[in-house]
Amino acid sequence: MKILVLNCGSSSLKYQLIDGDTEAVLAKGLCERIGIEGSRLKHQPAGKEDYVCEEYMEDHTVAVQMVIDALLDTEHGVIKSVKEIGAVGHRVVHGGEYFASSVIITEEVKEAIRKCCDLAPLHNPANLIGIDACEKIMPNVPQVGVFDTAFHQTMPERAYLYALPYEYYEKYKIRRYGFHGTSHKYVAQECAKMMNRPIEESKIITCHLGNGGSICAVRNGKSIDTSMGFTPLEGLVMGTRSGDVDAAVVTYLMQKENLTPSEMDTILNKKSGVLGISGVSSDFRDVQSAGSEGNDRANTALDIFAYKVAKYIGEYAAAMNGVDAIVFTAGLGENSGVIRRAICDYLGFLGVHIDSYNNSLRGKAMEISAPDSRIRVYVIPTNEELMIARDTKELLDK
Ligand code: ADP
Repeated sequence: MKILVLNCGSSSLKYQLIDGDTEAVLAKGLCERIGIEGSRLKHQPAGKEDYVCEEYMEDHTVAVQMVIDALLDTEHGVIKSVKEIGAVGHRVVHGGEYFASSVIITEEVKEAIRKCCDLAPLHNPANLIGIDACEKIMPNVPQVGVFDTAFHQTMPERAYLYALPYEYYEKYKIRRYGFHGTSHKYVAQECAKMMNRPIEESKIITCHLGNGGSICAVRNGKSIDTSMGFTPLEGLVMGTRSGDVDAAVVTYLMQKENLTPSEMDTILNKKSGVLGISGVSSDFRDVQSAGSEGNDRANTALDIFAYKVAKYIGEYAAAMNGVDAIVFTAGLGENSGVIRRAICDYLGFLGVHIDSYNNSLRGKAMEISAPDSRIRVYVIPTNEELMIARDTKELLDK
């Protein structure tokens, strides 16, 4: 069965067509500037030349139709009939407390996704538009929703409740949800395979370190805690997000600087993190090169970042009463040996030892811990699209 994986943003649509049996990517691509002048589709079929189409896309329905046309195209296409698409798997950001796993999309499911729009106002509406567009164009093809939050629904109350008046949990559902769930689940499963050990008997800490970052404690295959919270702002120091700060700083700053809630939100989400501390950039590569040229604030930002990741790893080792493996993934986790080393240097107390040569390699899943390391350390490239395709196939096979 071929599965079309879609990730719809407000003006973009990323897609991959994956063979559900062999897990091969048959084609992938991106529609940009949907509904904006200068729309563009970039289509990359496996084994064929890339193809770019710069036709105006009025809305997501037009974009989905263009994707289907590209997949069917005699020159750049990879399928002969739309009937070859057995299912569509949608990445949906927020499933609130409604979804603890992926589901086949029905009217009720759409209604629940709609109810979560409040919690993810930038993402969920776009995800719904993508679902509606597919229903219009492929009315008989089953659609599956795969939620960023679902994997974390196994967290116990002690991990997800904030120590705020309980009525706010009841009234507004204010609690930790966690994000990047599809990525944490994927790399934890891959890690168990690499350790050659059943995931049901393992304690894994997964570190998704990209522009946004989060850490997850995966015990016996289930998320029991994660660093992002009610929103993706909590937890680690990120490219532009502050991560954990004393909440009293927020009200203090708002008073001192006469800030509106939305201005304060922009400071915390867009102007903080390594960008805020270093004053250089939100891109870790830029901050690293500024640091090596002697920019002290850049070096401080990187040290704060690594220190924070290490503290969470320590916290989650305690939460799971031990840890078998630590996994690094996403842009920074997959590519920066320097940052991985800086983090692991704080983890001597756990008996973590890194192999310098393996830590300097890139581009594939591998173990980077030394033979004498008490805890295995891995770099595993994340693959959220493949995880979405696997979940979609599994649901339809049932
Ligand atoms: P997101 O999906 O959250 O936007 P990514 O997972 O693509 O982010 O990660 C992007 C981040 O990864 C950027 O901040 C970039 O600096 C960092 N990154 C990518 N490659 C490297 C590298 N070789 N060294 C250091 N950082 C890197």
